[in-house]
Amino acid sequence: MPGEERELELYPSNWLYNAGVIGFLRVLEEGFEDEKKNFEDKLKKFFENNCFSLPEEAFKKKTIVIEDGLKAEIYQIWEWYFSAIGGKNKDEEGEENPVKKYWGSVFNKFFRNLFNPSLFGKRKMSSDKKEDEIKKINDLLYFAIYREKQVGGEIHTCSICGRNFKKRENFDKFYTFSSQHIKGLGSSSGEFPNSFWNLNASMPICLTCTYMILHYPLAFTRTSDGDEIFINAPDFRLMWYLNKFVREMYEKGEAKDTRKLFGLSLMQWAMRINQTLGAWTMANIEVIRKKGNIIDHFDLPPDVVSVLMDPVAASLITSLHLWPILELVMRGKYSELLVATYCAAKAHLADSISDNHCVYKYGGNKNRAGEMFQKLPLLFARIKQLTKKEDKMGEEKTKDEKVRAVYYAGVNSRELKDNFKNLSFRILELTRLGRINDAYQAIARVFIASRTPIPSDLVNILREQDQELQKSHIYAFLSGVLGEEKK
Ligand SMILES: [Zn+2]
Repeated sequence: MPGEERELELYPSNWLYNAGVIGFLRVLEEGFEDEKKNFEDKLKKFFENNCFSLPEEAFKKKTIVIEDGLKAEIYQIWEWYFSAIGGKNKDEEGEENPVKKYWGSVFNKFFRNLFNPSLFGKRKMSSDKKEDEIKKINDLLYFAIYREKQVGGEIHTCSICGRNFKKRENFDKFYTFSSQHIKGLGSSSGEFPNSFWNLNASMPICLTCTYMILHYPLAFTRTSDGDEIFINAPDFRLMWYLNKFVREMYEKGEAKDTRKLFGLSLMQWAMRINQTLGAWTMANIEVIRKKGNIIDHFDLPPDVVSVLMDPVAASLITSLHLWPILELVMRGKYSELLVATYCAAKAHLADSISDNHCVYKYGGNKNRAGEMFQKLPLLFARIKQLTKKEDKMGEEKTKDEKVRAVYYAGVNSRELKDNFKNLSFRILELTRLGRINDAYQAIARVFIASRTPIPSDLVNILREQDQELQKSHIYAFLSGVLGEEKK
């Protein structure tokens, strides 16, 4: 064993296996608790080349108490597994012993008959049998990692990783993917994994993949809807971080339900990792929802994902921190952002607002209205830019850059603030009604009357073909010119 390669080569496959790999990484993270840097390095390498090199410590034999009067030697990595899955607890001697607490319950809960854990804790089972069971658990890990070649026997191909393998004694039931690998999934509203045992009763699976699948529960996060969720994607790095963000956001109390957690997690990726993803990758990010025995999945339209995963849009939405606005984006109701802008503008400019003012519908109030009025036109234009159908050749500025420029044209015209203040409600109303030319004329007249040249960027309002974007330009200009003197 010493000097042998302990590298695992893993590629994304179906969601159950993917969740297993993410859970496996969480176990190693647990083991590396005191060497975070070392773990980060290994993780980084794994994301680059799909090879994870296991640390020697994972294979150190450790004597643990499984139940009173029964001690066993297990590989260290199993202790990390139980610790990650159940949390730490101390036994009577004050030693941390997650294995003792979770041994039976974990296997019973998630894996029906792969092992015989239910017999632990029951006096009926002889010590010899218990020791056999423990040996099997250790052997599974050993064979999974070393993929040791068997001599003789029929060759099978693993339906998950595609590798060839030969069956070894005592592991018969591990080699056919069945409900024993994931307990309780009797029905499924999706095609997978139900089809595994209903339509295709004999799906061969190798020991490495079986071992990985044992970790799937660790990848799921429980939400307030009673769901347990896992974000599945075509890339382990993406899955690792998106699921980490879901857990973080849940623990921080940022959100508790599945939809919001999914949206927040995508935006966290945009702002913290900020790695450009291909359209195909973004189209294949989905939430796997486990509710009792039902497995379901949901996803968002690709254009919504591309908005949430854009750093500019994500930071605008996040800094606004208004659920109704995130909800509009997640539902793809982008045009309604302009209605929200209009309401925010009215609330911001009024001396006081009534209890049923429309700004409340969007999560705002009188105090927040100014910020909404400023950011929403920029967000809308950014979304237009991200979701536009075709690129116009030779355009010097993107749609959101143009709106931003108009906003700054407003900021630079603040010496005319008072002149605009009197007209603002009229301009807002003309804009809402789509009378863009009239609104533009009203703005232009203020400049002309005060003998100030019209800022060149303002002309973009008329050049823009899309009426919604024209509205967004005017809102942005007003928000700029009517803003506070100092930022
Ligand atoms: Zn396999």
